[in-house]
Amino acid sequence: MKLQLPEDDLVACVACGLCLPACPTYRVTGLEIASPRGRIAAMQAVQLGGAPIDAEFTAAMDACLVCRGCEVACPSSVPFGHLMEAARATLQPRRPAQRRFAEWLGYRLVLPHHGLLLALTWLLAVAQRLRLVPNRFGLPRLSFRSLRTPLDADAHPDVFLFTGCVMDAWQREVHRAALTVMRATGARPGLPGVHGGCCGALHLHAGLDDQARALAKQVIASLPPEGPVVVDSAGCGAAMKDYGRLLDTDGARAFSARVRDFSEWLAEQAPLPLRPSGTTVVVQDPCHLRHVQHAEHAVRTVLRGGYQLVEIDDDGLCCGAGGAYSVTEPSLSAAVRARKVDAIRAAAGDGPFVVASANPGCAMHLAAAGLTVQHPAELVEEALP
Ligand code: SF4
Ligand code: SF4
Repeated sequence: MKLQLPEDDLVACVACGLCLPACPTYRVTGLEIASPRGRIAAMQAVQLGGAPIDAEFTAAMDACLVCRGCEVACPSSVPFGHLMEAARATLQPRRPAQRRFAEWLGYRLVLPHHGLLLALTWLLAVAQRLRLVPNRFGLPRLSFRSLRTPLDADAHPDVFLFTGCVMDAWQREVHRAALTVMRATGARPGLPGVHGGCCGALHLHAGLDDQARALAKQVIASLPPEGPVVVDSAGCGAAMKDYGRLLDTDGARAFSARVRDFSEWLAEQAPLPLRPSGTTVVVQDPCHLRHVQHAEHAVRTVLRGGYQLVEIDDDGLCCGAGGAYSVTEPSLSAAVRARKVDAIRAAAGDGPFVVASANPGCAMHLAAAGLTVQHPAELVEEALP
């Protein structure tokens, strides 16, 4: 069985190994098969050499975080993320029934049906009050008040805030902060209409590309045809900027061109005066902001006026969150995170600090390790005069 990967992309790898230091799974295991070069060699062996798709091959594909740090390091511009997504799409029908059922529950039943996700979130909030949800899950404290208070859209909007699925259910306060900051610039933010929920990023990550395409079409249809689409989740923003490639239509390409990460959009507006807070903020670059959207500088631009910014000395290595990776690969995810947490603490020094993260998955993953994490939108809101 072939993987049906674009052969030009597959043979573009010259096996130079320059991507190895940028790969978090290679850094924690030291294994060639856990490196980008090793994974590409495994894909080539299956597609070009007739090797079987066996358990070892599947494990090698599953252990990748799809962080795309290797793409930035690669002198041959190998589109590793797209290769990995396509390889996982081929693996999908061969997954064990138990896994396919779990994915059906999560990806096909809950995430695309926002009402159901919100109902389950209410139950989760009750479970939190009963202390039935361990802190190690990193779930933010779910607020009943926030859940029952919808977000407000302005009349005659000139910009739109994409609200998504999990983030709207679990981190709606970040959206509220983003809306407040957007209004402080003089903008009139609107919200998506019906079915403007899940963007399909997690589905793509898991190899469910048909479902991702269906969700992408719904998201595009949920928003008016003009005006910037601001996204305060780096993973969602990266996926939405790629709708043009995913759907291969002029409409999708035009939509993708309108998508901006929250900080990217804010940095394009007239600077907002911020109160210097004296708080130390360690900036964590989510992979999909840094390696895919290349918008990490905007976070520094919007926070600089209010905070003491500190850089992490690890060239933007992944934190180990990676979509559902912390659930599917818990030990590797924890090992990758441990490196990141050490790097964050080393950067911060002895005093108190907050981590700024523009991605909800990274925020929860790092919070589960005991760090205080806030979204740039919340930090900007707090520093408004
Ligand atoms: S996407 Fe990330 S984890 Fe996967 S091979 Fe590339 S650098 Fe390694
Ligand atoms: S840097 Fe690029 S060409 Fe070199 S081994 Fe990695 S993927 Fe292949």
